[in-house]
Amino acid sequence: MQAGLIAGLLALPGLLACCGRGSPGRREVSDRLVAAARANGVRNERVLGALAKVPREEFVPHDQRKHACEDRSLPIGRGQRITQPSLVALMTELLRIGGEDKVLEIGTGSGYQAAILAELTRNVYSIEIIPELATGARDRLKRLGYGAVQVRTGDGYRGWPEHAPFDAIIVTCAPDHMPRPLMEQLKESGRMVIPVGPEGGPQTLYLLEKRKGKLVATAVIPVKFVPLVHAAARRSAGGARKPRGRATVVGRRSQGLR
Ligand code: SAH
Repeated sequence: MQAGLIAGLLALPGLLACCGRGSPGRREVSDRLVAAARANGVRNERVLGALAKVPREEFVPHDQRKHACEDRSLPIGRGQRITQPSLVALMTELLRIGGEDKVLEIGTGSGYQAAILAELTRNVYSIEIIPELATGARDRLKRLGYGAVQVRTGDGYRGWPEHAPFDAIIVTCAPDHMPRPLMEQLKESGRMVIPVGPEGGPQTLYLLEKRKGKLVATAVIPVKFVPLVHAAARRSAGGARKPRGRATVVGRRSQGLR
């Protein structure tokens, strides 16, 4: 029975604590996260390089550091979570970011995803609705050499009109419909990655691409994100459970991410 248990644990490396002996080293975190992203189908070497370089252990609270190399989301305070690293990598890959691209993130949280984006382009804008998290992320990003990332406290549902349009938009909290301001702030040929669905699921990760002014959406995988908090969306929650707007779903890509 013990052998069976051990075999079961070996089959779920992402759920194991990092060697169970205190906090893992930088190299260990890097190697394990890259291996997890590769195992989940991420192939873009620039994205994998960013995943290897950004120190995830610096973006989680002290009592979570021993879990930094596990491929799962972790609590970061205020009821929020840093996203599962292989999902961060997949979402980043889908954005196809070029070195000069202007990228908007909704849901700064710990700042981890913003740092990954900052490894790929120098133009990163990120909005966080909880002031303490925004301040913490801003300080952390600066300390770790990502001071060029612009972090703002506010409701990301409205986007950041002063800096629009964006080549890429990534939403790391789930609205129950596609926010129209974000669709409007996407450049022609721009890409947006966004989870859509009710709190607690089912939510679907969509890739939206603007082609000749129209948004084409591809359903990628089922996901579970914390909700996007938005006053107007809350008021109309009863009638706004499914994606709205002019995006058309054209396909589905399945992948083994949790
Ligand atoms: N990208 C983050 C993960 C964040 S979890 C990271 O790498 O750590 C999702 C975040 O979205 C939470 O911090 C939550 O407070 C934030 N959020 C929820 N609704 C929001 C909104 N309307 N505008 C901006 N941020 C929002």
